[in-house]
Amino acid sequence: MINFLRGIYRSIKNLSSGEEILSDRRKFNYICISFAIIHLVSLVFFALLKNELLVAFHVLAIILYFGLLSLAKKKHYFIVSLIAEIEVLAAVSLISFSYGSMLGYSMYCFAMIPTIFYITSTVKDMKHNTIYCYIFTFITMLTYFTIVISEPFFTISEDLSMHPVLTLFIRLFNAAVTFLFCVAFSLLFVWEMKSNTSQLQRRNQQLVEVSRKDPLTKLANRRSMMEKLNLSMHFLQLENHPFSVILCDIDHFKKVNDVYGHDCGDKVLVTVADSISSQLRDTDFVCRWGGEEILIVIDGRLQTATAIAERMRSNIASTVVMHEGQQVSVTMTFGVAQAEKNYRIEDLIQLADTRLYYGKEHGRNQVVSQDLKD
Ligand code: GH3
Ligand code: MG
Ligand code: MG
Repeated sequence: MINFLRGIYRSIKNLSSGEEILSDRRKFNYICISFAIIHLVSLVFFALLKNELLVAFHVLAIILYFGLLSLAKKKHYFIVSLIAEIEVLAAVSLISFSYGSMLGYSMYCFAMIPTIFYITSTVKDMKHNTIYCYIFTFITMLTYFTIVISEPFFTISEDLSMHPVLTLFIRLFNAAVTFLFCVAFSLLFVWEMKSNTSQLQRRNQQLVEVSRKDPLTKLANRRSMMEKLNLSMHFLQLENHPFSVILCDIDHFKKVNDVYGHDCGDKVLVTVADSISSQLRDTDFVCRWGGEEILIVIDGRLQTATAIAERMRSNIASTVVMHEGQQVSVTMTFGVAQAEKNYRIEDLIQLADTRLYYGKEHGRNQVVSQDLKD
């Protein structure tokens, strides 16, 4: 019992903070145990009233809920909830037809509605049973109204006037449990929705990142670079804000793969990407343009971009990548071009590519920022 209460306290703390949602198994455990406790209190009450029929009924009900606990362990959630609901309605009807509504058992009809809505909309195996939820709600309503309408016409068989304190206690107990159920299941519903929504937002965020980043180098990908280029072009045309691009490519990268293996090639790519990123300012933007080609947008004129490219070239040339005890070093060739208002983005990249190609043809490991003829 103490462990059960401790478990509930821990769950409430985690659930309200959205850290966890109740597992389906725990939902049914809590429901079965709570129902068994309510029956236990009622059992004592009816024992004090010396109503043997209802004492026997409650003993059987408690045994039934222990049986349902083991059915829930086997994930027969639909059967468990169906039997529990039939039992509750049977208990409510039996007691109400014996004692009228004085004891407040008919209030459990109200407690059952949020419970069944919560279960059918959050338990995995029961989500397709929404129709069952409506049918049950209707039957519960029907049971309640039948009890209320038929009460004046039924002779109440049991007299409660001899036990005013006991009657008041059980009425208050039933009212408190009904409120508790309504509040608890409404809260659980809200917390679970909240937790689902924030989980969805986190996943969405991850998806956006995955769709915009290269998984190996963690640089932006081509798609986000195109957005940046369009934006920069827009600012250039509207506000005369200059920008340049640097297209660079690892020299003889195929050899690195061939000699040291593909894993070493990947390590070199990541090192080069990190080295380039570390040279950039917040206003610049870098992406993995293709295989071992990196494209950079520099917020500034050709001279600024050329100086940055030269710094990158010299940094990379002096970097050593360790792979299985071996030192691997690479160089890179850079083509730099400044955007003009009348350029299309393809023209600008083509210009940087032509300069890069020139550098490749003329010894590699260099920065080319002008159109040179042979
Ligand atoms: P150049 O100096 O003319 O650029 O020569 P290169 O060998 O670098 O150029 P080439 O285009 O012949 O080869 C590029 C190589 O880059 C071939 C390809 O397998 C390798 N590559 C492309 N993407 C990756 C990658 O993600 N990881 C690894 N390890 N290698 C890659
Ligand atoms: Mg290359
Ligand atoms: Mg290449």
